[in-house]
Amino acid sequence: MKTRKFLILLSLLTLMVVTAVSLSACSTDKDSKKETESQSPAPVDAPAQPNDPVTVKIGYLPITHALPLFVEDEIKALKSENVNLELVKFGSWTELVDALNTGNIDGASMLIELAMKAKTQGIDLKAVALGHRDGNAVVVSKEINKVEDLKGKTFAIPHSLSTHNVLLHLMLKNNGITYDDIEVIELPPPEMPAALSEGRIAGYIVAEPFGAKVVAGGVGKTLYESGDLWDNAVCCGLILRNEFIEKYPDAAAAFVSDYIKAGEMAEAKDATIGEITSKYLKVDPEVLELSLKWISYDNLRLEEADYNQLASYMIEMGLIENPPAYSDFVDTSLVDSIK
Ligand code: ZN
Repeated sequence: MKTRKFLILLSLLTLMVVTAVSLSACSTDKDSKKETESQSPAPVDAPAQPNDPVTVKIGYLPITHALPLFVEDEIKALKSENVNLELVKFGSWTELVDALNTGNIDGASMLIELAMKAKTQGIDLKAVALGHRDGNAVVVSKEINKVEDLKGKTFAIPHSLSTHNVLLHLMLKNNGITYDDIEVIELPPPEMPAALSEGRIAGYIVAEPFGAKVVAGGVGKTLYESGDLWDNAVCCGLILRNEFIEKYPDAAAAFVSDYIKAGEMAEAKDATIGEITSKYLKVDPEVLELSLKWISYDNLRLEEADYNQLASYMIEMGLIENPPAYSDFVDTSLVDSIK
């Protein structure tokens, strides 16, 4: 009997020990998991705080037409605290337009005609300012002395949807020549100076500094400056996705305000501006000097008369059927609100 009691007691003791070990094991598992969780790194993208500056990603090509952006990026005293400008460089208009249309960038300094086309295709873009005024020149090889001399020759533009093409149209029209009389081709801007010096093309018109390059280098000459063909010609615009303006109205206003002030600084075209430009594009000082003579950066408000003039030229050329209305596409409120 004593033996039986002892065996029962031993069984009970064994059961208690096993249970205790099991519970202990469970609790150890739980504790170690808790410890692992508490050691996990904090999430990388910490939520933005109300006072954090808003980053605005702006696309550009390395041309003097985008100079106000470079000045805005470089002059710290210009920068508003509530916006952080991030410039994104592109190698071609096509790549830049793709990034803008898909929302990879919030805006761009770009050919305004490309933005108008994207707007007609349903991309909600706003032209909030100009990139510059004037700043284009028709450059030709030495043996071309007048427009008629271009008959039967090859002439390059960067893109059919461009002010360069509009200026070509005006030059030909003023001289009673049609597109059938010359061969117009599209070339990437950096290739144009070499194409002219090698005789593959007789002339071109494109964003700067590629025109000034052949003139300053003595390979070519200026046939027309843009102001001779269309006074106050508009070319590049500062374009923003409307969703950015609506989501961050204060940051959008600060960015545009800084941009307009940068344009006024750029207009000085002094040594500081030269140094800034050389950080963003490769250009010899004498080429830059000539290039900057052709362009202006003050008064970057896109006026209705200038926009409508461009739209009517584009319709006349068959580049666009129904251009966006000024009231729908151009938003001058950010420029107008600058104190
Ligand atoms: Zn331009």
